[in-house]
Amino acid sequence: MQAGMMNMPLIVSSILRHAETVYGKSEIVSRLPEGGIWRYTYAEAASRARRLANALIRLGVRHQARVGTLAWNTHRHYELYYAVSGSGAIVHTVNPRLFPEQIAYIVNHAEDKVLFFDITFLPLVEKIRLELTTVKHFVAMVSREHMPQSTLPLLCYEDLIAAESDSFDWPLLHEGLAAALCYTSGTTGNPKGVLYGHRSTVLHAYASMSTDALGVSNRGAVLSVVPMFHVNAWGIPYSATMAGAKLVLPAGALDGASVYELLTEEKVSLTLGVPTVWLGLLHYCEKENLRLDHLERAVIGGSAAPEAMIRQFQEKHGVFVLHAWGMTEMSPLGTVNSMDAHMAGLPIEERYKLQAKQGRPVYGVELKIAGPDGKELAHDGKAFGRLLVRGPWIASGYYKDEDRSAWVDGWFDTGDVATIDETGTMAIVDRSKDVIKSGGEWISSVELENIAVAHPSVAECAVIGVPHPKWDERPILLVVTKEGKEATREELLAFLEGKVAKWWLPDEVLFVKTLPHTATGKLLKRQLRDDYHDVLMRQASVA
Ligand code: AMP
Repeated sequence: MQAGMMNMPLIVSSILRHAETVYGKSEIVSRLPEGGIWRYTYAEAASRARRLANALIRLGVRHQARVGTLAWNTHRHYELYYAVSGSGAIVHTVNPRLFPEQIAYIVNHAEDKVLFFDITFLPLVEKIRLELTTVKHFVAMVSREHMPQSTLPLLCYEDLIAAESDSFDWPLLHEGLAAALCYTSGTTGNPKGVLYGHRSTVLHAYASMSTDALGVSNRGAVLSVVPMFHVNAWGIPYSATMAGAKLVLPAGALDGASVYELLTEEKVSLTLGVPTVWLGLLHYCEKENLRLDHLERAVIGGSAAPEAMIRQFQEKHGVFVLHAWGMTEMSPLGTVNSMDAHMAGLPIEERYKLQAKQGRPVYGVELKIAGPDGKELAHDGKAFGRLLVRGPWIASGYYKDEDRSAWVDGWFDTGDVATIDETGTMAIVDRSKDVIKSGGEWISSVELENIAVAHPSVAECAVIGVPHPKWDERPILLVVTKEGKEATREELLAFLEGKVAKWWLPDEVLFVKTLPHTATGKLLKRQLRDDYHDVLMRQASVA
């Protein structure tokens, strides 16, 4: 029997309409790439998004056409999210940290018709301009007074919307249509596009805002340090709007001092970002002897949150770390380690150990782990295997790409290796290509890194597997020391000893000035493996 309920589509524009009607006076605060701070309300944002929707139509953006953005977290980027998707086109957020050739590839592959960009990225756009085969209009996201000189025929964002009416009826789109497009940073091969839908975006926002997930609330202020060019800033532009939370956007100022200033001045209660950004913030607070007074919770994801960082946030600042895991193909939220009834009852040391795990799946995401033969493994917290997921906001394929090798019987193989325990708590052991295979046994590079980074002299570190004449592969540890601090090989090995099995101890410890990162801030281990490929082989031959 058919249900007797209305069939209202779940569409992105309905989120902004809701905020405008119910939370019209809640604020959006944004740093501007051209300098200064912009402050307005959800009602004003909605009005400007409607003007922008009219401007898009005037520029010839048709149904489901792709509109590219190369932009920081700003109110203008926020307006694009809603104007483009809401009017039935697809907002394609491009990661400006990729190599110029990759950016050109992505924009051409997506067939972007218009490219909106912050003036910071003008030199980049000018550089790749001749390679862009589909872009008809270039729009600089500034006001007339800040328009840069350029050889490009540039349009001005503020002029575009000033010329339009703010009356626009958001179309009642089919909820299955695409709303946004984001390419994975692709450590191998060409980047691959993930097409988010209206329905998947709304469901993901519902799930992620709830108390035991990210807990995005009208009572709080949210600072999204995670960029809007990377998996829709973990859905915050949607979930904060749905909740009518005060939304704070940092533009490109992600250094410790700038993040601290926004957190404090805007009385931010919830913030989200990758570990590298928090390293910068914590270091700045330590150096200047500052405390994060208003902040209650920090969501850490994108890479593993080390226990030392979780502890520092809690003990120095009274901030609870919500460790979250997900990926571009998952919109991105998969699991969250929130302060649930179980965690709240634990002694603090046990709680830190639990917090360092990636947490339980939010409703809507199912997880399982499988061994090399594809057979499902037990949820006992010990057995580890490839992590597979399914759910309504998980990709079913890549955009214009036939490759289905990551999908098995309706499940998506994340490429991560994990354990799941009896309570459903998942812990990432490693990326499947980063696990170190030593004498037929597996060593988790992530676990070694998490311990080593707690050493007082270590700023950042990486553990990689390199070829070994006897054991196939053995771990080596690469260390960047903190400014003004030193450490020795012996000291670090002694620090690891007793915390992991003896045969897990790295065969070599090397001190380096910096470590390479991907465009989304993850350690670029492929490059490290290339660079240090023969370290142990050479030592063996000398011996
Ligand atoms: P991306 O699609 O660029 O966001 O990368 C997704 C990948 O980042 C995941 O498959 C994991 O390998 C890694 N990742 C994300 N969050 C975490 C986390 N909390 N702990 C460990 N790895 C993570």
